[in-house]
Amino acid sequence: NKFKSCLKQNVLTIATMLGVILGVGIGIILRNSKGNWTPREIMYIGFPGQIFLRMLKALILPLIVSSLVSAIASLDLSLSGKIAARAVAYYLTTTFAAVVLGMITVVVIRPGVGHHPKDVNKEDKRNVTTVDTLLDLIRNMFPPNMIEATIFQTRTNLTPPNDRETDPYLFKIGEPVTIQSTNILGLVVIAAALGIAIAQLGKEAEVLANFFHNLMAVSMKITSWVIFLSPVGVLFLVSSKIMEMDDIFTVVGQLGWYFATVCVGLTVQGFVILPLLYLLLARKNPITFINNMSQAIITAFGCASSSATLPLTIRCLEEKNGVDPRVARFCLPIGSTINMDGTALYEAVAAIFIAQVRNVPLDFGSLVAISVTATAASIGAAGIPQAGLVTMVMVLDTLGLPAEDVSLILAVDWLLDRFRTAINVMGDAFGASIVYHRSLRELGILVSTEASPDDPP
Ligand code: ASP
Repeated sequence: NKFKSCLKQNVLTIATMLGVILGVGIGIILRNSKGNWTPREIMYIGFPGQIFLRMLKALILPLIVSSLVSAIASLDLSLSGKIAARAVAYYLTTTFAAVVLGMITVVVIRPGVGHHPKDVNKEDKRNVTTVDTLLDLIRNMFPPNMIEATIFQTRTNLTPPNDRETDPYLFKIGEPVTIQSTNILGLVVIAAALGIAIAQLGKEAEVLANFFHNLMAVSMKITSWVIFLSPVGVLFLVSSKIMEMDDIFTVVGQLGWYFATVCVGLTVQGFVILPLLYLLLARKNPITFINNMSQAIITAFGCASSSATLPLTIRCLEEKNGVDPRVARFCLPIGSTINMDGTALYEAVAAIFIAQVRNVPLDFGSLVAISVTATAASIGAAGIPQAGLVTMVMVLDTLGLPAEDVSLILAVDWLLDRFRTAINVMGDAFGASIVYHRSLRELGILVSTEASPDDPP
C-alpha cells in the first residue's frame, strides 16, 4: 500500500523522467535513421515541446509579480527584510563557493593544458565591454515604464540566430547586437517596490493586496494544468535537440575533458556541498528534499531555463517539501534570476579552460578577477537557455581573451547548459528551504511541527 501511494504521488515525476529517456532514445533513432534532417523537419518534431515551453513562459510574468507582491505584502516589513538578508547571504555564499569549486576542479584536472588549436581570428571586433554588460544589468533593474519592465535588453558580440524558436543554439560571433528576453530582474524590482508600498499602506491598499493574492492563486491553478504536459513537452524538446546536435557524440579529447570537468564540479556542488549545507542549517534530510524536487529538476534539464521552470519549482517546494508559501514565493522568483550556482561554476571552469588552451598564465590576481567576474556574470545571466555563454564574454574580457574564444566551447554548450540549469534550480530550492527553516520562529511556526508533504503550513 505504501508503495502504491508513493507511486501515485510520484507518477508525474516518473513520467517526466521517462519523457527524458524516451526523448534521448527517439532522438538517437531518428538521427540515425536518416542522414540530414532539415531545420524545418527538426522544428516540426520539436514543435509540441516549444508549445509546452511557451505555456511555462507565459506563466512567468503573472507568477513572479503576484508571488513577490503577495509574499511581501503578507509579511511584516521587518521580517521581509530579515528574510531578504538571509536569502541574499545564502545566494552570495553559495555562488561564490561554486566559483571557487569550479576553479579548483579545473586547475586540478587541467583539461585545456597541452593542446594548442589553430589561432582564431584575432582581429579585435570587441565593442561590448565588461562595463557595458554591468551597466546593462543595472539599467534593466530600473525599467522606465511598466511595459518596458517586461523586456530585458543586453548588448553582446554573440549574435543569436534570427529564429530562436527553431534554432536557438547556433550563436555566431560578430558585430554587437542587442538581444531581448523577459526582464525578470526589472519585474522583481517593481514587484518588490509594489509589495513594500502595499504593506506600508495596510488597509488602504487592501484591494490591491487581494488582487495580487488572487492572481497568484489563479496562476498556480494554471500551473497545475501545464505541469501535466511536462512528460510530453520534455520528450519532444529533448529529442529534437538530439537530432540537431550530432557532434556531441564525436566530442572527445580536450573538449570531452572540459565537459567532464564541469560535470564533476556540478555534481559536487549539487550533491555534496548544497545537501551538506541543508543538513547543517535546516537539519532535514537532503535526499528526501532532492527527491521531492525532482520534477522541477528534470524539467530544468529538459528546457534549459530556470525561469521557465519557476512555476514547477514553486509547486514542488511548497507542496512536496512543505515550505511556507510566504518564503517560497519571496525567495524563488529572486533566486531563479540572480542565484545560479551551476552557471557560476561553469563560468569559472570555462574561462580557465580557455586560458589553459591559449597558454595564458594565470597568477593569483587573475584568479581573484575570475572569481569576482564569474560571480557577477552568473548574477547577470538571465534564466534562459545559454544566457551564461553570453555573459561569459565578461569573464574572458578580464583575462584579456577575445570574445571569439567562446567558439572553443560552443559545441558542447547546449548540453552543459541543461546540467547547469538543473543545479541552478536545485540551488534556488535549497536556499528557499534553508531560509524558511531558519525563520520558523519569526514566521510564528512552532518548531516542533514537522512539515510534511500532505500538510503544508
Ligand atoms: N540556462 C541557464 C538557466 O536558465 C542559464 C545559463 O547558464 O545559461 O538557469
